[in-house]
Amino acid sequence: MKAHQRFRHCPSCGEAFPGGAAADPLRCGACGFVYYFGPTCATAALLIDAAGRALFIRRAKAPAEGQLGMPGGFIGEGETAEEAVRREFVEEVGFAPEELDFLCSYPNSYDYKGVTYPVLDFFFVARARGDEEPQALDGVASVHWLDPLAVDPAEIAFPSMVQALECYRRRRDPARPGFLLPEGAMRD
Ligand SMILES: [Zn+2]
Repeated sequence: MKAHQRFRHCPSCGEAFPGGAAADPLRCGACGFVYYFGPTCATAALLIDAAGRALFIRRAKAPAEGQLGMPGGFIGEGETAEEAVRREFVEEVGFAPEELDFLCSYPNSYDYKGVTYPVLDFFFVARARGDEEPQALDGVASVHWLDPLAVDPAEIAFPSMVQALECYRRRRDPARPGFLLPEGAMRD
């Protein structure tokens, strides 16, 4: 259920909304209060090693518990997407990627405690140095270096991540793992 459908009263004046607020943005007919719900922003990065493998985490918590994803998470107020993805890497696997190349963005939705949040995901690609030792930390059950072109989409936590992997498949430079071709050189 979308968040606005859960709002039974105006958060400013207390006016009742039988059946939930009509729409996003919420507009209160009684006091004129207006509230925009979303989307919120999130970010993740595909860290590629010299063999072309990518670092995946297996999620330890809902949503998508047990599914695979790239390290990442929600972008905080005042943070850039790059700062947020580095912070999330440190929290989840114990180190941060260095140079980040923007890959693509896709809309996503995130179901949490009975509310479906609209999200916009920003994806990056980064190169592993080779001496990282990823650990399974906050919210992570295990870490895996996997071929990003061969992972079963049914195992991936979010549709936006499946789309990001497809974008990487089209934009990757086959001669240089972890690097992207210029947009104009994309193959199909
Ligand atoms: Zn009101």
